[in-house]
Amino acid sequence: MNKLENKVAIVTGGSRGIGRAIVIMLANHGAKVAFTFRHSQKEADELTNELLQNKKIVKSYKSDASNTNETSLLIDEIIKDFGKIDILVNNAGITKDGLLIRMPENDWDEVISNNLKSVFNFTKAISKFMISARSGKIINISSVVGITGNPGQSNYVASKAGIIGFTKAIAKELGSRNIQVNAIAPGYIDTEMTEKLNEKQKEAILGAIPLRRTAKPEEVASAVMFLASSDASYITGQVLCVDGGLGM
Ligand code: NAP
Repeated sequence: MNKLENKVAIVTGGSRGIGRAIVIMLANHGAKVAFTFRHSQKEADELTNELLQNKKIVKSYKSDASNTNETSLLIDEIIKDFGKIDILVNNAGITKDGLLIRMPENDWDEVISNNLKSVFNFTKAISKFMISARSGKIINISSVVGITGNPGQSNYVASKAGIIGFTKAIAKELGSRNIQVNAIAPGYIDTEMTEKLNEKQKEAILGAIPLRRTAKPEEVASAVMFLASSDASYITGQVLCVDGGLGM
């Protein structure tokens, strides 16, 4: 059964990694999917072509999620193309790691802007359509480190903890309009973001994960699918950890 038949979803940062897996998962469950990217045109085109060949309805949009005006214009364009928006997945994110004492102001600003302001931009621009429709699902991709903290990632951790606070506030604001807002906190997922870790760091991380392994992007996408479907009809304001137990 296509659990997302007739639904329209937007996924930010859908060209690579976890976002790509989310786009495929939602499309395979019947959703029409609009996804964004900032630089990776080639990957976005490859994903779009692959899904179109499999008779899925999908379109990519080159847009910087941290830019408020650009996002507002983008949402109008997506509404013109698809007619409505039922599901928003705020996934786009970057890292610029470093110890606080050596962190340039620009690295702080860039991470907060790409990871947290982007969530404000998309949620604000889309929620007015969801309010009119009296229906909607918003899923924000945070991180386990937004709960536990992590040295060398103060900018990233602040952005991801900010997403959790934002999720709860907006769940309370929009609940009466039948809009559910939840967050997912992934642990260590095999993507280009975690490829940057050295062997010593990877070994230490594996030792701390009760399941003793990292995860595939599809394992995060499954959690998104659950929250986007009617299976999660009475869940809002929650943080679902997909982390092999790391954050316990
Ligand atoms: P990734 O492989 O680096 O992919 C990031 C995606 O976000 C790309 O499609 C990128 O597009 C897009 N993006 C970044 N900034 C953007 C912007 N300003 N506007 C539009 N698109 C933007 O990262 P990932 O590992 O899949 O991570 C996805 C999300 O999961 C992030 O929010 C990350 O913080 C979170 N997360 C990841 C892990 C992990 O272990 N990997 C763990 C916890 C949480 P371009 O390629 O065009 O730049």
